[in-house]
Amino acid sequence: MNDKYIAPEMLSPNNLSQLAQMMDRRPKALLIAGGVHVLTRQDSELFLLPPEVIFLKQVSELSRLTRNDRMLEIGACVTLQRLFEQAQDYLPAIVIYALRNIANVAIRNQATIGGSLAISSYRSDLFLVFAILGAKVEIRSLKDGKLKKVKRVALIRLVREGFLILDSQDVIVNIRLPISDWTNWQFLKLHRPFSTDKRSLVIVIVARVEKDIIHSFHMGTLVQGRYLVYDYTLDAQLIGRRYPILQKDMLFFQNLLEESLDHEEYVMTDYVRYTLISVAMKFLRG
Ligand SMILES: Cc1cc2nc3c(=O)[nH]c(=O)nc-3n(C[C@H](O)[C@H](O)[C@H](O)COP(=O)(O)OP(=O)(O)OC[C@H]3O[C@@H](n4cnc5c(N)ncnc54)[C@H](O)[C@@H]3O)c2cc1C
Repeated sequence: MNDKYIAPEMLSPNNLSQLAQMMDRRPKALLIAGGVHVLTRQDSELFLLPPEVIFLKQVSELSRLTRNDRMLEIGACVTLQRLFEQAQDYLPAIVIYALRNIANVAIRNQATIGGSLAISSYRSDLFLVFAILGAKVEIRSLKDGKLKKVKRVALIRLVREGFLILDSQDVIVNIRLPISDWTNWQFLKLHRPFSTDKRSLVIVIVARVEKDIIHSFHMGTLVQGRYLVYDYTLDAQLIGRRYPILQKDMLFFQNLLEESLDHEEYVMTDYVRYTLISVAMKFLRG
């Protein structure tokens, strides 16, 4: 029986330039932020890691949390709990609500924002919330031994099955989240998120209403932890309307919503369709 266990080489860079050097020399190394996903996805009794592991949590640039008038810049290794505790005066209420509903404090103290967006097998609640709120992710790729090549990806553009595709040369450095005053919002998480359960559903709706007029509206849904459903038509039609929506316009919006849910049946099951329409129409009724 071959039960030899060779301990992996564990590296812990302090800054981006050290990280770049380590990644350059070990192109197959696994990056670990909080390690929650990596740990909980182990399916053997013996905890297994690849031969080379790079821990990101000590990288100073990845732990920054700053803001200006328009946005919060969240380092990829900021933990869910730290974001909640240190930025709650600036975070949109829906983010605070979503964070508080993820697992428990122990896990939130460990799991990072970057790790929550980078998972390649499912999308988290935060992926949906951040996407709907217009967040952009800054990714740096290794080139000539340096992490210099910068790419900014708006999460909302990754609709349907577009995961954040990272290769082993890419690192999420930070996430830019616009600071907006969403006056009305709804967050609903049903059944087991991230599971293949056909009823697994997360719905996020945000609106900015001033003097009873809708100035901005976004609604997105995450089905089975994979499929991001988002349609601009509803947003465009709602801007400038009175809120709550007038009774005489309700049928128009219900039809519009039904048309926008034109997805494959394995994504948009009757249950998902019914729940989505009920939640959205209730929101529009105020
Ligand atoms: C019991 C339990 C319940 C949970 N419930 C929820 C929930 O309801 N909603 C929710 O949203 N989350 C939930 N989570 C957390 C979520 O599922 C992830 O496990 C967690 O957010 C991952 O973050 P991490 O920092 O630990 O990532 P890690 O495990 O460190 O990394 C995850 C993946 O991302 C890559 N990665 C990490 N950081 C970077 C980076 N900066 N650049 C490039 N690649 C990177 C890693 O290589 C790895 O492939 C739950 C977790 C547990 C254990």
